[in-house]
Amino acid sequence: MAQVSEPGGAGVATHCPYCGLQCAMSLQTGVGGATVVAPREFPTNRGGLCQKGWTAAALLRHPRRLVSPLVRDERGAPLREASWDDALDRVAAGLAAAQQAGGRDGVAVFGGGGLTNEKATSWANSPGWRWGRPTSTTTAGSA
Ligand code: SF4
Repeated sequence: MAQVSEPGGAGVATHCPYCGLQCAMSLQTGVGGATVVAPREFPTNRGGLCQKGWTAAALLRHPRRLVSPLVRDERGAPLREASWDDALDRVAAGLAAAQQAGGRDGVAVFGGGGLTNEKATSWANSPGWRWGRPTSTTTAGSA
């Protein structure tokens, strides 16, 4: 994995992905070249992180981390790797088929508290501007 900073450097500013607090952190290069987390000053975390945040970088090097889409050729078939284009085409076809079968309300989306306000708003509004569905809900609010 590429280094995210010089050892001991400022690192790359980002936010914890695990819950709606979105605590500020930076990813830095630690001992042995591993990516490590350091907290940053931010209104929600004021320079601290919970245990989940401190361990967020461990996921980057997990041997079973998904790094490409997995699809099934039919219900119950084993998962296999697919290209992003193939996977997104499947999602688009599935959404179109659901709307054809169930009308405008045949598609709904649900987002979680790990989304930033901006992402939650974009996600919550996407059914309206992409698929003609007027409403959706997230745990962070509704639009
Ligand atoms: S560090 Fe903990 S409290 Fe902060 S965003 Fe991550 S999971 Fe949530």
